[in-house]
Amino acid sequence: MSDVRYEPVIGLEIHVQLSTRTKMFCACPLSFGEPPNTRTCPVCLGLPGTLPVANAEAIHHGLMIGLALGSQLAARSIFHRKNYFYPDLPKGYQISQYDEPLCSGGRLGEVRIHRVHLEEDAAKLTHVGASGRIHGSDASIVDFNRGGTPLAEIVTEPDLRSPEQASEWLRLLRTTLRRLGVSDVNMEEGSLRCDANISIRPTGSDELGTKTELKNMNSFRFIERGIRAEIARQEQLLRAGEPVVQETLHFDPRTEAITSLRSKEEAHDYRYFPEPDLPPVTITEAMLERARAGLPELPLEREQRLASELGLNAESARLLSWRSELGDYFEAALAAGGGVESQPLANWLGELTTRAGGEDPAATGVEPAQLAALAALVSSGAVTQGAARQVLDRMVAAGGGDPAAIVEAEGLGAVGGADELAPIVRAALEANPDVAEKLRDGDMKPIGVIIGHVMRETRGRADGKEVTAIVRAELGLGG
Ligand code: ADP
Ligand code: MG
Ligand code: ZN
Repeated sequence: MSDVRYEPVIGLEIHVQLSTRTKMFCACPLSFGEPPNTRTCPVCLGLPGTLPVANAEAIHHGLMIGLALGSQLAARSIFHRKNYFYPDLPKGYQISQYDEPLCSGGRLGEVRIHRVHLEEDAAKLTHVGASGRIHGSDASIVDFNRGGTPLAEIVTEPDLRSPEQASEWLRLLRTTLRRLGVSDVNMEEGSLRCDANISIRPTGSDELGTKTELKNMNSFRFIERGIRAEIARQEQLLRAGEPVVQETLHFDPRTEAITSLRSKEEAHDYRYFPEPDLPPVTITEAMLERARAGLPELPLEREQRLASELGLNAESARLLSWRSELGDYFEAALAAGGGVESQPLANWLGELTTRAGGEDPAATGVEPAQLAALAALVSSGAVTQGAARQVLDRMVAAGGGDPAAIVEAEGLGAVGGADELAPIVRAALEANPDVAEKLRDGDMKPIGVIIGHVMRETRGRADGKEVTAIVRAELGLGG
């Protein structure tokens, strides 16, 4: 059965640090790189006898996430203690939610949401290695500033089918959360963290295979590579007739090595029980109303609007909504006016983004209004596509600029009209008598030779369609 094909099945668990002012269960302000252990109090240090109080703003953020994902919002949900020992967890348990989470179900695009619950972040451990040796051993140091930061954990159903789809979808989720304003969603800084659950199964089967969990990947590239490596590892095992063992894994992006962190823990390992120090979270109509009122236009809604109201093609509508910096640039350019059409403008934004190395086009210094002006020059026929690309190159090189002025200064305006073009076409036909012969016989295949010649002569400033029309006229071929 070595010719069997396998299909990957992927579900994500995403931890999002909520950008509230204070921590989940105490009044400590959230920390952004302050000196270690300066943003702590008896509650988040887990001292005995202290009492947690749930952060209303974190619950509000949780409701906004639930609404955006179309989840069912529980009128009443419960905090549980999840018990385990680790040096970053001074209480010996994490306050989380278990079988009565704030949000259940829902969907974002093609992926169903299993649940969204609230919990607190652990402190930050740094393994300092030889430089931090204590009594001759490697050491770990702990900073409790992060301990107690509010988290929303979003768990998907296993609906993803490839590494690329997983990272694309995660981008959509990140843009959605960013629009909601509930988090900084910065993977490098750890405010968005993703675990990937991965299994494979024979293509066509609808049973789920044994899954493994890749922990805490902190960039989109690593997620894609990590999942790809784990799929390959599982495939190799199955093809060799060996089972996949359910376990928690670490992916090292430097070496591509996958190592086991621990065997899979089960819910009963944590001895979950209801947190006795916190009352159930009850959601009032006023809280729901406030969350609903706070909802902005979300990426998938924007995608709809860009396609249906502005007539963008599906690819552009998706790109501009899934990457909101592109959508914002586009809408600013459109608003700058000049009668520019949507789709050509979106295409020019693509050209600019390519020149920005795929990053934020605004970083080139070319302003939205300047890009709109360039697109308008092309649609009015004042500049050809090819010449406009040269103008854009110059705009990017100069960190912005007025396209009309560049056209003027560099003599890049379109060469148009039979008066200007006919002599150049005639010269091209004379220089290529064999091509002219074929064209005259009605074989239009080699017309590219003539167009190429004219483009060279005009430095790309002629319009290909117009050149074709003039060729036909010159040879008496009729329209
Ligand atoms: P556990 O109880 O082991 O934590 P869950 O059922 O809570 O497992 O699922 C955790 C995550 O793993 C979810 O994102 C879910 O979609 C995903 N998942 C579950 N089963 C599989 C599987 N067989 N293959 C891939 N992902 C899976
Ligand atoms: Mg789980
Ligand atoms: Zn505190």
